[in-house]
Amino acid sequence: MRPVKAAGAFDALVIGGGLVGAAIAWGLARAGAETALIDEGDVAFRAARGNFGLVWVQSKGDNRPEYAHWTRRSAELWPDLAETLARETGIDVALAQPGGLHFCLSEAEMAERGQMITRMHNQSGGIGAKLLDRSELKDMVPGLGPDVRGASFSPVDGHASPLHLLRAFHAGLIGRGGRYLPGRTVDRIAPAPGSFAVYSGTERFVAPKLVVAAGLGSRHLAPMTGLDMPVDPLRGQIMVTERLKRFLDLPTVFVRQTAEGSVLVGDSHEDVGFDNGTTPAVMQDIARRSVATFPALADAQIVRVWGALRVMTPDGFPIYEQSARYPGAFAATCHSGVTLAGAHALALAPAIAAGALPSSLDSFMSGRFHVSAA
Ligand SMILES: Cc1cc2nc3c(=O)[nH]c(=O)nc-3n(C[C@H](O)[C@H](O)[C@H](O)COP(=O)(O)OP(=O)(O)OC[C@H]3O[C@@H](n4cnc5c(N)ncnc54)[C@H](O)[C@@H]3O)c2cc1C
Repeated sequence: MRPVKAAGAFDALVIGGGLVGAAIAWGLARAGAETALIDEGDVAFRAARGNFGLVWVQSKGDNRPEYAHWTRRSAELWPDLAETLARETGIDVALAQPGGLHFCLSEAEMAERGQMITRMHNQSGGIGAKLLDRSELKDMVPGLGPDVRGASFSPVDGHASPLHLLRAFHAGLIGRGGRYLPGRTVDRIAPAPGSFAVYSGTERFVAPKLVVAAGLGSRHLAPMTGLDMPVDPLRGQIMVTERLKRFLDLPTVFVRQTAEGSVLVGDSHEDVGFDNGTTPAVMQDIARRSVATFPALADAQIVRVWGALRVMTPDGFPIYEQSARYPGAFAATCHSGVTLAGAHALALAPAIAAGALPSSLDSFMSGRFHVSAA
């Protein structure tokens, strides 16, 4: 039997119930830690609710082989993740990994993708990515527009439902005896030897282990534990169509058809601060590209558009780190929380539970942002 803890006392606290924090909290609970997930909730900027849902490998880790390997490991862990979540929670996260396409609408884009595939193959080994010309593509994807010159293809790419995934992590945590505590904004963390006190207004939570995974809120919280998470917002806009007859079996980087039949079309990369609105100019751009790729989409009804903020580090790669000043406190953030969900839940969380991150993650420590040119 577990010893009875004081009210508000846990084995582990995770701040931030988006895709990163929820994956880790569920993973910690599976490792046997009594875990509380403290979450500001939907009032906060929450990339987990506004993303495109790709489990994407082909372009991840260009010039950073460790990131390519981490991403590939996550994609490999994803089938186990989806199966385990379905078993534990009854929620189907709609994982499909049939391979993915990045369309090129000009010869210049084709040349650029070709160079990237070769470069990444040389840096971090092969995943079977290749460049397909228009004639090869036509057999795989019907209804392509005349401007499509070709595409890069990787057999290990896929997609899932990010909303079902988030719900499954929360349900899985609760099913494992953990607590999901929404509506709590953490405003203070007080580290003491062997324990962390976390405050949300007048509420206090205590644990010997703490994970800061609060998305864009992490920049402010991390220094309270001796960690550094210099993240900034980067907006992406997405539109979704009515449900359409199935025409696209493979996810692509700008267009994907969900399990239900609606088509997600996106997305943009805009440095506009904490503004998650939408703009007609960007939507027109997104629509133009998708119709050039699939002319039939010109007749589809758009049912919703939205903007959401990515959580970006200065170099775009994740931060994973245990605090040197306050051991037991961990930082976790990345800009591909769907893709990396497998690794976060099934590899990172068990390492945090055991008290040490593997050396293969050393290059993701924040010290890399403070190395002087000399
Ligand atoms: C347009 C767009 C498209 C994307 N497409 C993809 C994709 O196709 N594939 C992919 O892998 N990734 C994609 N992403 C990225 C993915 O959504 C994010 O990597 C992921 O959601 C980040 O998760 P997070 O938990 O770090 O942050 P968030 O999801 O933003 O969650 C942060 C959480 O922390 C909580 N919080 C913040 N401050 C506090 C506080 N002080 N106290 C308590 N709680 C707090 C918030 O309430 C929130 O729940 C996309 C993102 C965007 C915006």
